[in-house]
Amino acid sequence: MNLTRRDFLKAFGLSAAALGLGAKFPAAPLALAPKRAPIVPHGGNAMLMDTTKCVGCKSCQLACKKKNGLPIDDQPVSLCATALCYVDMKNVSPDPSKPVIQPIKRQCMNCNDPACVSACTVGALQKLSTGPVVYDSNRCIGCRYCMYACPFGIPTFEWDKQFSLMKKCNQCADLQAAGQLPACAKACPTGAIQYGRRDDLLTIARQRINDPQGKYVKHIYGETEVGGTSMLYLAAVPFQALGLPALPDVSPAEASQMIMHSTPLVAATVATVLTGLYFVTRRLTAQPTTVPVHPHIGGH
Ligand code: SF4
Ligand code: SF4
Ligand code: SF4
Repeated sequence: MNLTRRDFLKAFGLSAAALGLGAKFPAAPLALAPKRAPIVPHGGNAMLMDTTKCVGCKSCQLACKKKNGLPIDDQPVSLCATALCYVDMKNVSPDPSKPVIQPIKRQCMNCNDPACVSACTVGALQKLSTGPVVYDSNRCIGCRYCMYACPFGIPTFEWDKQFSLMKKCNQCADLQAAGQLPACAKACPTGAIQYGRRDDLLTIARQRINDPQGKYVKHIYGETEVGGTSMLYLAAVPFQALGLPALPDVSPAEASQMIMHSTPLVAATVATVLTGLYFVTRRLTAQPTTVPVHPHIGGH
């Protein structure tokens, strides 16, 4: 069968028109998905951690444990159910023989459009308009979807308990509601952690990274990553060297919604192509078989 490009395009155009998609088809399917508005577009509170000001004293880690009633005599090596905030001592030197340690405080990023909130099927997680992402243990069914959904690998569970609950920093939402500083920000002796309105902190952060005398990487981590977060970072070394992942600006929740909205159009497109192929195939196979014309043999 000779399926020419012209045959295909003709049949494809007919079938696309039949499905009413002729005018829309050239557009990219994702462009048709509606844009998801961030849950907290600009407002809310946040924390800014300037890692260049951190001396690794771990006062924030201790204050967090005390605030949350967690044991203070263990030595956590990462975020866990007994450490919702963890000071990671990162070796940022390219030369293994000459280590250069840069501490960084890690905790939940309290994202603007949190993947954990989208993943939770029972509404146990909620983003407050003031910034924190809070957790209601009474609603939690222990499914751990939040743990798999989080792009920062933050939620942790009480693995030693039969019904383990999720644990993460909520930026001391109760203290914030009472007009007080989060415990870690209050405990920091160097001013490495600042708490305030997210917009104001971004202004401060921009001034620092744009200072010609400055030593900063010219990026505010958390300003745009996964739709923005209520935890912002400044650093003098690449953020990935400090363990912060390189992430797109679109939030996982928004990306999955775009895909869901595009699914009907993708399905219609596939149906259109298959319909086009069907018509072409049918037309070609329906052509009468050419009977070879034998030269007339005869004579008079
Ligand atoms: S960092 Fe993870 S756990 Fe925290 S708000 Fe974002 S998605 Fe949720
Ligand atoms: S904001 Fe509160 S819960 Fe979060 S790291 Fe600081 S002290 Fe811990
Ligand atoms: S309290 Fe401040 S200086 Fe000390 S480890 Fe925490 S962020 Fe760094």
